[in-house]
Amino acid sequence: MELLLSFIFFTYGLIFGSFFNVVGLRVPNKTLFKENRSYCDTCERTLTWTELIPVFSYLVQRGKCKKCHQPISILYPLMELGTGILFVLSYWQYGWSHQLVLGLLLVSLIIPITVSDLAYKKIPNRLLLFFTPLFLVYRFFFPLDPFWLTLMGSLLAFVLIFLVILVSRGGMGIGDLKYFTLFGFIFGPIQFLLLFFLSTLYGTLGGLITMRVKKVGKRTKIAFGPYIGLAALTVFFTGEQIISWYLSLF
Ligand SMILES: [Zn+2]
Repeated sequence: MELLLSFIFFTYGLIFGSFFNVVGLRVPNKTLFKENRSYCDTCERTLTWTELIPVFSYLVQRGKCKKCHQPISILYPLMELGTGILFVLSYWQYGWSHQLVLGLLLVSLIIPITVSDLAYKKIPNRLLLFFTPLFLVYRFFFPLDPFWLTLMGSLLAFVLIFLVILVSRGGMGIGDLKYFTLFGFIFGPIQFLLLFFLSTLYGTLGGLITMRVKKVGKRTKIAFGPYIGLAALTVFFTGEQIISWYLSLF
């Protein structure tokens, strides 16, 4: 039974992941509902259903379009696989509880924003606007203890990131500010501080690796959204353990 449910969560994750790719790529262009079928980015040919199976199509076609043989971005299968794994992990860690709902919501927010930020260096307002009310409703029914931690978290996030933007002069953008503030609301001030620390840590490591691999200069603008998302997932899955470990050091 457990195995069957894990399989179901994973499969749903793959399918949703495939949808999140489309959302992340189309929302910034406002074409989410204008173009119905998926198409090849290079030759713009509409894909057949055998080319739309998450991950498997990519593997079968060896990462290339069937017709024009141009490479398909590895981002697509990675995001599908990532969504599948994160859906299962949420279920394994929290079972049938309200945190499972939070996990699925977080993944559904983070994956399309990651795609969007990687593709366009943009965190779309529309995605934040779509998800914010869902998190408000979630925290209304399942508040932090005490409930005002949500308000403190969002205030702390807003002020801190606002200062970072002022000091860093363009290192982070308004999109990052809103994204961080939403996480401050969801996680409260203490877990938010951990999230902020982790995102800068991941961002620094990621920046160094990117500079090495792509040989780009320090001035090149990097998308910070993926690191914020990764930090939020780390906090969701292991935040309490990390914080209690840290406190035990004193
Ligand atoms: Zn093609």
